[in-house]
Amino acid sequence: MSVTAIVGANWGDEGKGKMVDIMAAEADMVVRFQGGSNAGHTIINDYGKFALHLLPAGVFYPHTVNMLGPGVALNVHAFTKELDILKERGVPTPDIRISDRAQLVMPYHLLLDEYEENRRGAQAFGSTRQGIAPFYADKYSKVGVQVADLKYPDRMKRQIEGALATKNVLFEHLYHQPSLSADTLVDEMLEAAQGILPFVDDTVTLIHDALSDGKHILLEGQLGALRDPDHGIYPYPTSSSPLAGFASVGAGIPPSAIQQVLTVTKAYSSCVGTGPFVTELQDPEAQELRNRGGDAGEYGATTGRPRRVGWFDVVATRYGCRIQGATEVVLTNLDVLGYLDTIPVCVAYETGSERTESFPPPAQLDQAKPVLTSLPGWRQDVAEVRTFQDLPAQAQQYVLQLEEWIGIPITWIGVGPRRDQIIQREKA
Ligand code: GDP
Repeated sequence: MSVTAIVGANWGDEGKGKMVDIMAAEADMVVRFQGGSNAGHTIINDYGKFALHLLPAGVFYPHTVNMLGPGVALNVHAFTKELDILKERGVPTPDIRISDRAQLVMPYHLLLDEYEENRRGAQAFGSTRQGIAPFYADKYSKVGVQVADLKYPDRMKRQIEGALATKNVLFEHLYHQPSLSADTLVDEMLEAAQGILPFVDDTVTLIHDALSDGKHILLEGQLGALRDPDHGIYPYPTSSSPLAGFASVGAGIPPSAIQQVLTVTKAYSSCVGTGPFVTELQDPEAQELRNRGGDAGEYGATTGRPRRVGWFDVVATRYGCRIQGATEVVLTNLDVLGYLDTIPVCVAYETGSERTESFPPPAQLDQAKPVLTSLPGWRQDVAEVRTFQDLPAQAQQYVLQLEEWIGIPITWIGVGPRRDQIIQREKA
């Protein structure tokens, strides 16, 4: 039995998708355990470049079972669209299973997200407007609709009526928008859901059988530790927990089953969306790093929004690795820093007159200033390097120094966006 979680240490967009794509070659199952179509993984492999939002990143391998677990927010339109794109681009039909306990993102979740962000105006949360916050609010208010309810329209209608009882009041009187009818929504959802029915399964039984058979299972996280509602940059987290600890809940396996937690971080920082970001750079330094980062500059895979960028943040990353329970760290995008003579790194925060190396609560983060130190750059293209020893000495030193500060072994190093642009290092 071997279960590995691949999760983010920071604000998301760390390069998890590429890592799942690499590791799925030897996995039997890849499982999404939270979130929905509100974030994207960029994957560049033999079939081309893809932005996956809802589908697990194992869909490129016919031998891998790809599971959307009970913790996922399932938008049936987004699911069908993504699957169609794979088909059009020549990817063999993947084996996908959707949990009968996953819940459905309803049309009113998307509307509410949109209306509320518009109402907040300058105070908007920076939502991707995929309905995720209203979806999870309904789930925990017990008016959500489970995938299994699609076979029980009366039950589904009761849940929708429960959700609409308050939403229609808001639609009409707060947002001045048309109210919705439960009957129409039931019909709409039954029709839209036709495309997902062949994939619906009892995933809890499937995954437990896989555990008993000693299969290799990957748990694929979305976003990163700093977007966790409890541990992150509240009130700018995502609405479900992206932590490896939650993977056990959202996938339906015992916490003790997860032995490996690969925590992904970039060799610098990037953050799409709103919220405190202590090492954030301003132009022209930001523009330079943004244009060089990722596979085609740092622009969001779901939204296309320019990502905010900054120097590597040891305080945030060590904290992110701790709350993820990292057993190993994947450091991506090392190649991007090859243009710098010296590389600033944030080793502490100053909050007023205090200096701290611990990640403070969000109220203090707003005032925090980075304490920077500089490491020597290597001024070289490392995109074709495949062993740690072949990296320039300064690049090796950069990795070793970050490893010491984070306190977790860095076992994989990304030197480019392609599947093959990776260096594997033995644990020290
Ligand atoms: P995810 O959501 O964590 O999977 O990350 P995203 O796919 O949203 O963002 C990561 C970005 O970095 C994408 O543009 C990837 O193609 C790119 N990427 C991943 N690893 C590397 C790397 O080692 N070097 C470079 N240059 N780009 C990388």
